[in-house]
Amino acid sequence: MATTDQRAPDPRIDGALQELRTHLVGELIRPEDPLYDEARMVWNGMIDLHPRAVVRAGSVADIDAVLRAARDTGLALAVRGGGHSIAGYSTVEDGLLLDLGPLRAVQVDAANQLVTVEPGATLGDVDRATVGHGLAVPLGVVGQTGVAGLTLGGGVGWLTRSNGLSLDNLESAEVVTAAGEHLHASEQENPELFWGLRGGGGNFGVVASFTFRARRLPGSVLGGNFFYRPGRWKDVLSAFERWTQDLPEEMNPIASFLVLPPDFEMGQDPWMVIGFAWVGEDQQAGLDLAEQLRAAAPPDEEELGPVDWVEWQSALDHVVPKGSRGYWKNVSFSRLDEEVIDVLVGFASEVTWFGTGIDIHHMGGAFARVPEEATAFPNRSAKYWLNINGFWPDPAEDERLTNFARQAYARMQPFAEHGQYVNFLGAETGHDLTEAARQAYGPDTHQRLVALKNRYDPHNLFRRNHNIVPTPA
Ligand code: FAD
Repeated sequence: MATTDQRAPDPRIDGALQELRTHLVGELIRPEDPLYDEARMVWNGMIDLHPRAVVRAGSVADIDAVLRAARDTGLALAVRGGGHSIAGYSTVEDGLLLDLGPLRAVQVDAANQLVTVEPGATLGDVDRATVGHGLAVPLGVVGQTGVAGLTLGGGVGWLTRSNGLSLDNLESAEVVTAAGEHLHASEQENPELFWGLRGGGGNFGVVASFTFRARRLPGSVLGGNFFYRPGRWKDVLSAFERWTQDLPEEMNPIASFLVLPPDFEMGQDPWMVIGFAWVGEDQQAGLDLAEQLRAAAPPDEEELGPVDWVEWQSALDHVVPKGSRGYWKNVSFSRLDEEVIDVLVGFASEVTWFGTGIDIHHMGGAFARVPEEATAFPNRSAKYWLNINGFWPDPAEDERLTNFARQAYARMQPFAEHGQYVNFLGAETGHDLTEAARQAYGPDTHQRLVALKNRYDPHNLFRRNHNIVPTPA
């Protein structure tokens, strides 16, 4: 259904958009177009913005054309990969939206374990392309999420301890800058830009292509989910903490609290679920580790066994469909003693509804071996990363569930370590962008990011992101 555009016509902008249309390989969609409402929609259904035009890119050359049009018209620009930004940054009110979604090709150089990914590819696109070669790129846990935004912010998932974040496995990126330059960024070429791309989000340019180093998957990956009813969670978290103390890094666990969706047939009460993926070659060693956890904290229900990698990676897709309403907060922390467990279980027990998840990612391993200053990701030493994530369907719940995430976040502050993971952050209104970025990245990394922003985007063309505000020349 087309939307009636209430804005006064602006002949200069309309002319520029007409002109832009003639240069595109892809399509330009305006409010009167029947495809407009679908084209403007992002994952987070709370973000309901109306761009002046959406360009669904048909080639890398379309990136150049859109950046030129944004510079010439002064229209605010948004860039979209998979459209899963929790804060809704991949759309814009009254501006120009560059949707890279149609560019989804994935090329696998199996001999060199390199995977080159176009900027609209989803995690599932990459998994499906690599698995047949026995390879996997470390990505997140939901298959429809975009590789681009995930990687530019971090990328936490089932291979984080064994292989680090997605951005730790990025070998190089092709970038189109605000000035329209095409740059190759890697450790060798434009290394400072490469540093900033790995954690600094889309602040420095449009990434037209990502090349990752993939890891070999073992003959079979062992996947498990141990389920626990409320009432046992304190003991189970203590056991989890002891289990994680010397855990080999091929074991990648996430402890979650949530009401499971109806198709799990697990009732309407919340569950604690310890999910894990073992990617060591020796499957028995993984089974032995699972047995250690089982002995220390016998699950009420469990599933354990070799998994199909693509199915495992997309098992949660239907839980968080596009159009869900979302507000997320995150906290890095290292203590998981009685005091912290009391607080965690306190707010986790309040989640009696479907639509809020509380995930504790166990970090360490390869993630922690990367020196903090090697990338712009804010914190490498915290043992755990808490993600309080919302994915509810009903607008009437917006205020209550947003407040729940805020309050849970506040209750964890006494134990919080430095840094915020920008990809696990919801939209805030009226806050000081510079202060928010300084808090997320820490003062030193933030200062280095500002210097990079001044160099590559001094006029802040790329500002629909966790913004690094440039300082005036
Ligand atoms: P988009 O919304 O398209 O973009 C996000 C940001 O990146 C925007 O600022 C955008 O302008 C910018 N951007 C996008 N593409 C480019 C590009 N090519 N060049 C420059 N800038 C660009 N994160 C994890 O780490 N692990 C998870 O397991 C995980 N699971 C998730 C599950 C769901 C259901 C959701 C909604 C999010 C999840 N996330 C996870 C968070 C995820 O990392 C972010 O939402 C991320 O932004 C998604 O990337 P995207 O390309 O889909 O985002």
